[in-house]
Amino acid sequence: MDPKPPILSLSATELEKWLADHDAPEYRRKQVWTWLARGASSFGAMRDVPKALRDELDREFRITSLHPIAVSQADNGLTTKTLFELDGGHSVEAVVMRYSDRSTLCISSQAGCPIGCPFCATGKFPFGRNLNAHEIVEQAVDAVRLLAVEGRRLSHVVFMGMGEPMANYRAVVESVRRLSDPDLLAISPRRIVVSTSGLIPRIEQLGSENIPVTLAISLHAARDELRDVLVPINRKYPVRELVDAAQGYADKTGRRVSYEWVMLAGVNDTERDAKELGVLLKRKLAHVNLIPFNPVEDTPYRAPDRASIRSFKALVEAQSLNVTVRDTRGREADAACGQLHERVMRNKLVPVS
Ligand code: SAH
Ligand code: SF4
Repeated sequence: MDPKPPILSLSATELEKWLADHDAPEYRRKQVWTWLARGASSFGAMRDVPKALRDELDREFRITSLHPIAVSQADNGLTTKTLFELDGGHSVEAVVMRYSDRSTLCISSQAGCPIGCPFCATGKFPFGRNLNAHEIVEQAVDAVRLLAVEGRRLSHVVFMGMGEPMANYRAVVESVRRLSDPDLLAISPRRIVVSTSGLIPRIEQLGSENIPVTLAISLHAARDELRDVLVPINRKYPVRELVDAAQGYADKTGRRVSYEWVMLAGVNDTERDAKELGVLLKRKLAHVNLIPFNPVEDTPYRAPDRASIRSFKALVEAQSLNVTVRDTRGREADAACGQLHERVMRNKLVPVS
């Protein structure tokens, strides 16, 4: 027998229609969503919904389609990474990171990733499938539930987990609309970061959706010859055209673009790389984020030492660019994308009981 559909697989209109068919008023939809946004773990907990309707909802729907199969903690409990099994058997990860002024969720948009960057754990496994919008939103609803118990709110969402968001465009845009919907999670698009390896047509399309999310471009190299290797989609969408498309997004939305640069010792951390980066982003509305490489087994890469990171940063700053070094939050939790999945696949982690 097929499992019951998850409640968030219904759009607002579909849920309202279901309610009407069950002689319930339209406004119950908003009540149900409000409870989900507050972290309710069952329909039974939705106290202002009449008991008969709660029972009916429970008979026909699930709260979520995601099954947690492994959890890993790091940073003294400030980071929690969960591996979820999806309906049909694929699995994805989501990471909650708690800070003094915010709580950020790193979310997956695909099971696996078709792009295949050689330094990335996700790219090493065969591509599974695209996530549905509700499966993306459910990762956030799950994080809300986890944080609610601690008296925290989910304030930021970054699409930096498994998958290439722009290769699952429709579901990602739909999920962003729901994450920011005032009736559901009400997270401002400005606090949502969509990170991409660089699918130019989709970046242009995103600029016309009227949802001003923060765009992050996974640059990692400023010359085609190196970027063709590190981010293979570069062979189709070369780096200068990519930066032009990202600047187009910045012009349309007024949002500064974040350029990600995973630091690989001896590969893209040299003076030459810093200079090329400076030239490429000259006069662009840009912020550069340096990410020390999080080691992945069976790759030829290593992270640079602190001194090399500092001098690379200084060289880029000297060219009038804004630069930060991303903290290495979650390292012990295998928080670079795909890494918890990899560890479970290698049978090194005890699943949730
Ligand atoms: N596919 C999208 C979003 C997911 S990856 C993208 O590539 O942008 C999110 C970020 O993590 C990317 O910038 C990616 O390059 C980076 N990343 C992947 N593997 C990493 C690793 N082992 N160490 C550090 N960063 C990594
Ligand atoms: Fe895919 Fe991003 Fe990993 Fe590249 S870095 S393989 S695009 S998830």
